[in-house]
Amino acid sequence: MANEKIPFNKPYMTGKELYYIAEAKFGNMLAGDGPFTKRCHRWLEQKTGCNKALLTHSCTAALEMAALLLDIQPGDEVIMPSFTFVSTANAFVLRGGVPVFVDIREDTLNLDERLIEAAITPRTKAIVPVHYAGVACKMDTIMAIARRYGLKVVEDAAQGVISSYKGNALGSIGDLGAYSFHETKNVISGEGGALLVNDPELALRAEIIREKGTDRSRFFRGEVDKYTWQEVGSSFLPGELIAAFLWAQLEEAEWITNDRLASWGRYHELLAPLEAKGILRRPVIPEGCQHNAHMYYVLLAPEIDRQLVLNELKRNEIYSVFHYVPLHSSPAGQRYGRVHGSLEMTNGQAERLIRLPLWVGIAAEQQGQIVNVLGQFLGKHY
Ligand SMILES: *Cc1c(COP(=O)(O)O)cnc(C)c1O
Repeated sequence: MANEKIPFNKPYMTGKELYYIAEAKFGNMLAGDGPFTKRCHRWLEQKTGCNKALLTHSCTAALEMAALLLDIQPGDEVIMPSFTFVSTANAFVLRGGVPVFVDIREDTLNLDERLIEAAITPRTKAIVPVHYAGVACKMDTIMAIARRYGLKVVEDAAQGVISSYKGNALGSIGDLGAYSFHETKNVISGEGGALLVNDPELALRAEIIREKGTDRSRFFRGEVDKYTWQEVGSSFLPGELIAAFLWAQLEEAEWITNDRLASWGRYHELLAPLEAKGILRRPVIPEGCQHNAHMYYVLLAPEIDRQLVLNELKRNEIYSVFHYVPLHSSPAGQRYGRVHGSLEMTNGQAERLIRLPLWVGIAAEQQGQIVNVLGQFLGKHY
């Protein structure tokens, strides 16, 4: 029997999305910050312990809010990995900031905290750790460096919903944290995101920046008798239909994560023999990091031609993909950013990485088939 196609991702629906959207529709509350948005805010605040959670259109929007909140000015430097999604850098470049790309760790592919200090200059304003695959950066060290130099920390926790570091939710450790609810993430609303505000001094301005630079939120709470233009801001809040969809997902976020963790664990077990043979390396989860199984990736041995592996999987109708083209090697990254030190690890790991299909409900047989195709091809050729 021919095997069925195995896509890279399948967005998971809990089943209540349309029900809650209908509820919002019949409640005649369609603009932002209605009952569903408030429920999502409360959930995020309770789950993460952040001071204030604010839904946004996307993680990109949350990062843009962060750049506004930190008052990034032209020429201000922001330390970040090059191995990340464009939005990590773009948000700061929009304000004239300069991304300073620092190399990543061999094990987690996260910003190498040991290299941060040497990249700090008098123009440095912030550090933006990215928790790749929902596995935490070494936040103790990063926070200590930031405090010592008076820098702000913005966690790009786009992939980190439900993950934690030493018991603290990702996104709740730095001054600000950004989540994504994009269709490709674990908990979704199509497009969507949230800004977690941990520094209470930034909370009021965060509300203002998100509401077109006005104190509309305070007006609705009855704290002021009219609302006016206070600051530079924009419209960063999603409408209630998105929040209603998201609520159906947040209710099931723990279950979604547990299901993904089970599939992640199955890959990890099935791939152990290939790691033992030195053909590939499996992900590393450091002590103290509880991850959310956002991604299962492998790093192929350097002599292996990644494209041939992807082609072979595709020939078997298995859709596996690579990940970031490092930002420092992209046209805009070269124009707007600066490299600090060698990015040898970034360049090396980015070229060797493939991500395997993973979604809620992927069958054990499908995972077995993927690992078989991979093992047979690699065993024959390497
Ligand atoms: C997905 C992602 C983003 C962007 O999220 P959107 O919600 O699509 O804007 C930013 N950073 C990282 C690391 C991501 O994985």
